[in-house]
Amino acid sequence: MSKEVTEIHFGDNSVIRGDGTGVINALAYSNATSTTKDQFDALAQEINKTSVAKGFWDGERDMDKFAGKLALIHSEVTEVLEALRKSQGKDKVTEEFADILIRSFDLYAVLVEAGEADPHLYEVTRNKMKVNKERPNKHGNRWG
Ligand SMILES: [Mg+2]
Repeated sequence: MSKEVTEIHFGDNSVIRGDGTGVINALAYSNATSTTKDQFDALAQEINKTSVAKGFWDGERDMDKFAGKLALIHSEVTEVLEALRKSQGKDKVTEEFADILIRSFDLYAVLVEAGEADPHLYEVTRNKMKVNKERPNKHGNRWG
C-alpha cells in the first residue's frame, strides 16, 4: 500500500516532507519568507489528524491530558539519550528525534485549537532564532 506523501516547499528550495502518517522524513529550512510562516502549523495539523484518527486524543482534552502529553515528549528525549548511551545507531537517534517533533507538533496543534497557544509556530521559531543570535554566550548562563 502506498502512502500519500505531503511536501511543503519553501521559497528558498527547502522542504518539509511527511509520509501521510504524521512521520517527518526530512526537515530543512533557511531564509524562509513570510509566506511560509504557517507551514509548521500545517504540518502540526497533519500530524494531529493522524494522532486523533489513531485514538491518542480520545476523551477529555484538559490540563491533565496536556501534562501527560508533555511527559511523553520528555520520554522521547530520554529515548534519544538512551540511543546515544547504548550506541543504537544513527537511524535510531534520528527516529527518536522524529518522535520528539511528532509529539511536539501534535500537542502544539491541540493547544492552538484549545486557545492555549498561538498559531504561526514557524514565524515564532524564526523570530526566536533571530533573538537567540543576539543573546550572549550560553545566553548568560554557566552551561546549557
Ligand atoms: Mg520513540
